[in-house]
Order: sequence, then structure tokens, then C-alpha cells
Amino acid sequence: MAKDILFIGATHGDEKIGVDVVQKIQKRERYKEQFNFIIGNPRAYKENKRFTQYDLNRAAPGNLNDALYEKRRAAELIEKSKSYKYTIDLHGSTTGCGVYIIVTNPTPENLFLASLFNIPRIVILPSVIPDLVDPVSKYMSCGIEIESGPQNLPETRSALEDVLQDFLNHYKERQEKSFFENMQGKEVYEVYGVLHALPKDASLRPEEFKLFNVGGEDFYALFVDAYTYCTCLKMRKKPFDQLF
Ligand SMILES: [Zn+2]
Repeated sequence: MAKDILFIGATHGDEKIGVDVVQKIQKRERYKEQFNFIIGNPRAYKENKRFTQYDLNRAAPGNLNDALYEKRRAAELIEKSKSYKYTIDLHGSTTGCGVYIIVTNPTPENLFLASLFNIPRIVILPSVIPDLVDPVSKYMSCGIEIESGPQNLPETRSALEDVLQDFLNHYKERQEKSFFENMQGKEVYEVYGVLHALPKDASLRPEEFKLFNVGGEDFYALFVDAYTYCTCLKMRKKPFDQLF
């Protein structure tokens, strides 16, 4: 029988949390036949590196004949995802961000998929920032990413395990409900810019999902110190009725 769900772990080869957690869930009898699981970037996973030749999560849509491994792999993953109703791409972070959903392509279908999880924070991350272009999930027929951090903390791992099992137990009944019913108690954030550097007199550091103010501008911070080219990404909260 065809399965609804494909989980992908280690699209970034050094983000092992998704692999470890999904393989643990897969051993349990009741979940065994419910989904398929693949490693996004097996070469980088083996070497415990983010990627080998090109960042896979910037390589989409890719090309099956490309000279670069990750460009070929991006095309393969997008092709595989077409056989599933939902594709969930699992990432791990070093920051204390907790477990949240990233929607790279905010179509009604992808936002509805995000609403099926018992995860209160949903981040819309459009490719407005040059360094964040062409993630694999953007090109999937219906796909989202789940980010979890700090990825090596046992609490983060059990939180991810809980939400994935909760999703597997309940997604069918939640599919029958409306988006707005499923979104009760949740929040949507939208990334709209980058904080390149903190002002010299800044007394505070931004923290993940905390409200921060620089030069009179209020924003919620994300990916704090995750990249060399910026201090963090800037987000604002987005009302649900402005999503579509
Ligand atoms: Zn990642």
C-alpha cells in the first residue's frame, strides 16, 4: 500500500537528530508501516559534514545529470517526494531554538501540512535572503522542514520524538478539520530581513524567537549567530487571515 509520509533526515549531513529520532520511532511496531524514511545527504552524513560539494539545501531544484553530487541529489529527493502526500525534512540546529516548523513555500497546502503538527511555532522563510535560496522543501509537491535545537540535547530529541509520534497518531483526524481549527494556540512568524551587525552600544544579544529592538525597529530574532554574514534573521508575527 502506498504510504502518505516521507521523512528525510540529514539533508545537512551533520544534523543527525532527524535520523536518530526517526530510526527510533521506526522500530516501534505501530509506526513501522506508516511512513518511509531516507537520509537526505548520505555522503555528507557518512563524513559528518554539512555537505560534500554544494549545500544540498541550497541546491534545489537541481539536475539529475549535474556534475555536483548535491545538485543531483536535490533533483532525486524532489522526484522521490512526488510519490508521497507529505514530505517532512528534518534539520538540527546548535542554537536553543526548540522545535519549530519552517515553511519555505507558503502555499495553502504546505501551511495546512504545518497545521497538522502539534508544534506551536511556524516560520515562513521565503528565499528573500541570498544565502537562503533554493531549499529542497521549496520544490516538493507538499513539504515542510522541522528545525530542532540544540540538536544534541536529550530534551530536544525527546521533544522531536513526541511531536513526530503525535503527528503520526493524529494527522488523519486533523486533516478533516479546518486550517484555523488546527492552528488554535499556534503562532506564525515571517522572516523579512537580516540584521547584519549589532550596534556597538548594544547591551543585549538577540535570542531565538525573542522580541528585540535595534534602532527603533522591533523584530523577533532567528538563526542567531548561525551564519558568518549576519547576526540573525528578523521576523514579524503574521496574522492567520493574512496568510492566503
Ligand atoms: Zn539544516
